[in-house]
Amino acid sequence: MSTSTTDSTTDTPLGTAGSTLITGIATLVTNDHHLPGTSPDDPLGLLRDAAVVIEGDRIAWVGTESQAPATDSRLRAGGRTLLPGFVDSHSHLLFGGDRTEEFGARMSGRPYTAGGIRTTVEATRATSGERLAAGLERHVEEALHQGTTTLETKSGYGLTVEDELRALRIAEEHVDETTFLGAHVVPPEYAADPDGYVDLVTGPMLAACAPHARWVDVFCERGAFDGDQARAVLTAGIARGLTPRVHAGQLGPGPGVRLAVELGAASADHCTHLTGADVDALAGSRTVATLLPGCEFSTRSPYPDARRLLAAGVTVALATDCNPGSSYTSSMPFCVAVAVREMGMTPDEAVWAATAGGAAALRRIDIGRITPGARADLVLLDAPSHVHLAYRPGVPLVAAVWQRGARVR
Ligand SMILES: [Zn+2]
Repeated sequence: MSTSTTDSTTDTPLGTAGSTLITGIATLVTNDHHLPGTSPDDPLGLLRDAAVVIEGDRIAWVGTESQAPATDSRLRAGGRTLLPGFVDSHSHLLFGGDRTEEFGARMSGRPYTAGGIRTTVEATRATSGERLAAGLERHVEEALHQGTTTLETKSGYGLTVEDELRALRIAEEHVDETTFLGAHVVPPEYAADPDGYVDLVTGPMLAACAPHARWVDVFCERGAFDGDQARAVLTAGIARGLTPRVHAGQLGPGPGVRLAVELGAASADHCTHLTGADVDALAGSRTVATLLPGCEFSTRSPYPDARRLLAAGVTVALATDCNPGSSYTSSMPFCVAVAVREMGMTPDEAVWAATAGGAAALRRIDIGRITPGARADLVLLDAPSHVHLAYRPGVPLVAAVWQRGARVR
């Protein structure tokens, strides 16, 4: 712990320089139940009347206020709640166009199918790189203001070698985690030859895109890609050094979840329609089930059964699936509230899933926790408890956000 002899310890509205002590934290969500003072039975690792020290871009110390070390500056949380920044492990933010009319039609009774994605593909291809980048920046900023400090985002609205590569090059400049989703839907020009499109995705498109992504993803669903096609895409990605994640079980049961587990995917996403064999496969694996309640909300569809997954011992994450068609929300607090109200999760489970769960879905241990050595990504809630995220739905409770130790709002 470095202390300065020239700077006095003062309250600072922008605790950025040197080390900063945050005191007066009524509820601290650490997600580390090995820390002194936490209960081993509590996954959230809650501490009351706690203090945290940020130094540089890392958490340097966590404990009770009376034992806090000296620091350069001090910030009083005023009896509020501090939790790890939200980890949104599933979004689609490189798009052009607008689908307001489609949403309105759906709310008038038209069902959602995977076909609407093609509308966005057409608009995205017609959008300049500058506008795509500006749209991504706007959504990243919007998410940050709601407490999201780590974002994953995907390609998948270009569906040509050039357009997918363009999307990932923009994405890697603005977000932590990038995913190649050339296999989102079959584009219209390959409608008569879907296997020819899979050959393009697994050949030249993957070769161009793999250096700009960590993950390979496929929409394994009726109307998109079947089990054999999804397997071809994922195994080709693995051969190029990417780790799989899979869109599975959104619109109906299918082979996607078991394929994800078999291929060692970090996450199977959606998991709305699951067989018993799917749940068993997830329970015996490292594959996280990432639930995307914004999608069911925005398509007026039945929610996934989080309780069933949790009872089986599956690791569950929550993410927004932010995209212009099926889930146009960037708000993790919204997803927490819906997961609690509609999916059988307790507030503790939902907050864990939106932080540590998202980190697990991205195979990261440096985020999603407030513990010494972790990245200093923090959210201060204007509430005495994290439970208020579900108890006060729609209320802008995020009072401050730190990302890599810097106060960003
Ligand atoms: Zn998605």
